[in-house]
Amino acid sequence: MPHVKKYLFTPGPAPVPPEVLLEMARPIIHHRTPEFSAALDQARDRMKPLYGTSSEVILLASTGTGGMEAAVINLLQPGEHAIYVNGGKFGERWGKLLAAFGMIGHEVRVEWGRAARPGQIEDAFKAYPESRAVLVQASETSTCAVHPVAEIGEVSRKRGAMLIVDGITSVGVFEQKMDEWGIDAFVTGSQKALMLPPGLAMVALSARALDVAKKIKTPRFYFDLLKELKAQRDEHTTAWTAAVSLICGLNKSLEIIHAEGLPQVYARHALMAEATRDAAAALGLKLLSPDNPAPGVTGILVPEGLDGGKLVKFLRDSLGVSVQGGQDQMKGKLVRIGHMGHLSPFDMLIAVGALEMGLKQIGANIQLGAGVTAVQARLARSI
Ligand SMILES: *Cc1c(COP(=O)(O)O)cnc(C)c1O
Repeated sequence: MPHVKKYLFTPGPAPVPPEVLLEMARPIIHHRTPEFSAALDQARDRMKPLYGTSSEVILLASTGTGGMEAAVINLLQPGEHAIYVNGGKFGERWGKLLAAFGMIGHEVRVEWGRAARPGQIEDAFKAYPESRAVLVQASETSTCAVHPVAEIGEVSRKRGAMLIVDGITSVGVFEQKMDEWGIDAFVTGSQKALMLPPGLAMVALSARALDVAKKIKTPRFYFDLLKELKAQRDEHTTAWTAAVSLICGLNKSLEIIHAEGLPQVYARHALMAEATRDAAAALGLKLLSPDNPAPGVTGILVPEGLDGGKLVKFLRDSLGVSVQGGQDQMKGKLVRIGHMGHLSPFDMLIAVGALEMGLKQIGANIQLGAGVTAVQARLARSI
């Protein structure tokens, strides 16, 4: 089947609205100008409600992983201990980052698809009381599961440890309360719910984290958050050449997000997730994380014995519909449908309709239309 139109349902990158693409197509402005400073200031301010913070949000020209690295090297030193939740590929990344910089990471292993339990964090503190921080994903994109950040924050607070959170598929997807939950470093990236191309990371630091960063001796240069904060807050520009187009695009996408209204944005993500889960149930398919599903991405298990890799490839090559498969132990066994960014609940009809056709193609015993009907029913109830 020839396809001229492509559909992006991956959990990052996610679709970008035309208004944002047009904004980024404008001629480049210089980054030491009042025009750029105005866009930078506004974009940083507009990020705060998405984070649930009154702290300054620092923008970095890097992908999300750069933001994770910046949090680690500005708040921890080689030889220091930290507890990290490993419930998937991104949790594993915290461990690799800590190891790369000589910190001693203590892994809290969580079965894929499950949420970390606060008791596990308590146990880790009992075993390693010298731990100075807890690192966790608010939403573990590889397993489509959310972790209880607020409860984990309570545990780390009692121990006087910092809480470092990867919010890359949670900020802008569902409500985040950085200040209330006691998050000390909160990271996100541009290419998920912020409706932008990849290339920007955002990091917000609590007052305590700023104090810690001043004393930390870990070598850093490009990702020196204090230097970057000074430039952005005091001089209204970036320390290095700004990702001018992306920052202007961010300002536009945040304008669109706030015009829709944050409660509406969160409700839209929740509805897309619910509709997708309903479709899976109607098709007799199981979820990887049924008890704590992420609102930004849904992980559906491919029926036993069938090739999930073939399914993802068929959707992409024959239907023009991009979804993502599983990684590592879930390779070939999982299909992940992203519903973040510039998507409407109605778009889930396309994702689910394509999924059904793909499942038939690889030999699944499903009834075409059952999932689509479930999506329609859920959307009808929401009107
Ligand atoms: C996408 C994502 C990242 C960032 O990955 P990059 O490829 O560096 O942008 C980090 N954590 C989570 C949970 C993600 O979903």
